[in-house]
Amino acid sequence: MRIEEMIAAIQAQLGLDVDGKAGPQTWGAIYARIVQKKIDGQPPALAIATVDARSEKAIATLLPQVQPMARALVQKAAAAGITIRVLSGLRSFAEQDALYAQGRTAPGPIVTKARGGYSNHNFGIAFDVGVFEGNRYLADSPKYKAVGVLGMDLGLEWGGSWKTIVDQPHFQLRPAWAMDLSERDMLAEMRSRQAAGGPVFA
Ligand SMILES: [Zn+2]
Repeated sequence: MRIEEMIAAIQAQLGLDVDGKAGPQTWGAIYARIVQKKIDGQPPALAIATVDARSEKAIATLLPQVQPMARALVQKAAAAGITIRVLSGLRSFAEQDALYAQGRTAPGPIVTKARGGYSNHNFGIAFDVGVFEGNRYLADSPKYKAVGVLGMDLGLEWGGSWKTIVDQPHFQLRPAWAMDLSERDMLAEMRSRQAAGGPVFA
């Protein structure tokens, strides 16, 4: 049996979304089953300790399902000797449009291909990290790859593994309903869910 099959079988048994990756959801459910049901009154998956203040500011803008993943990634990186901070999370459609204008109708370099509503950042499922050495931010570092592997292990999608626009600081959590959808179809569904005032993730 492959390790991912083993994790998938445990997830199925626990009634979780099955992706074969053991992140806060899976570990939280195992903890609740064999250690205790709550940690400080919260379900274990939601009780992952907070991280540094700068990261927490960005994490606060993410969907509740994504927040523990971001914290777990910061903690996993720290355990591997890499300091990262979460630098950005949710962007409104208007903020996305302003970013899209950059390098096109506004000054500065082009930084995105996505207009408002066409970025996963517009729905609270995506965040970007920065690698730091002490207080110094590193825009480029081989450590981004190491962090990418840690993120994928947790069940996050990593922008560094994309074929088209490689985006090493970028991570996102795909909702279970979107497992078999293309990026484009997932975004379309999130736009329509949001427009209808429904939950984007559940
Ligand atoms: Zn991003």
